[in-house]
Amino acid sequence: MTQRQWQDEDIAQAWAELVATARRTADEGLVVGTSGNVSVRVADLVLVTPSGVPYGQLRPQDAIAVRPDGRQVLGDLTPTSELPLHLALYRATDARAVVHTHAVHATAVSTLVDELPPVHYMTAALGGVVRVAPYALYGSEELAENMLGALRDRTGCLLQNHGTVTYGATLAQAYDRTAQLEWMCRLWLTASSLPGRMPRLLSEGELQEVAEKLRGYGQRPQG
Ligand code: 13P
Ligand code: ZN
Repeated sequence: MTQRQWQDEDIAQAWAELVATARRTADEGLVVGTSGNVSVRVADLVLVTPSGVPYGQLRPQDAIAVRPDGRQVLGDLTPTSELPLHLALYRATDARAVVHTHAVHATAVSTLVDELPPVHYMTAALGGVVRVAPYALYGSEELAENMLGALRDRTGCLLQNHGTVTYGATLAQAYDRTAQLEWMCRLWLTASSLPGRMPRLLSEGELQEVAEKLRGYGQRPQG
């Protein structure tokens, strides 16, 4: 197998996973229509969803790849309008995959507070109290900059009057973080909806304790 073929197969597989993840955001109600976008890193390239194309229509031959400087090296479709946001994240962090959605509860919370009050211990799974990046026009460098500020030491944030951004080591991890974030926003809205009652919040110390315990969460490696 030549190196070129090997690279092509890698890109084809990553594109299939990216399309499946993008479809999941629509199927599980985290976006409506062509809102949101997804990207994944493959070697020195970034694969991204196209702008304004329903995810159900995406075919293997529609793969789009750009270099970290934004130069498109694969595909005829126009990349997502949030390319600046995705590329900024790959430049500034160890992200391998990025998911952006307009999930309804998360977007509602982004219009109400500057950070998501820590009502649940899964706050610690995103690195601590989730911040809201100040509003800026969609697709702008300013939005990308505001997002980077909100993501300091975090793997997820809210974009004011817009939606969510999470990243991870894999598409599955980035997606799961978005789903957890949306669920926590729904939880806070629910808990804070009783007139005259405010939910109890977790302390810094309690979140720190969870962060430590989460390092050993899940199945132990076999053997
Ligand atoms: P694209 O269709 O260009 O990805 O834009 C959707 C979006 O969510 C912009 O913020
Ligand atoms: Zn958006």
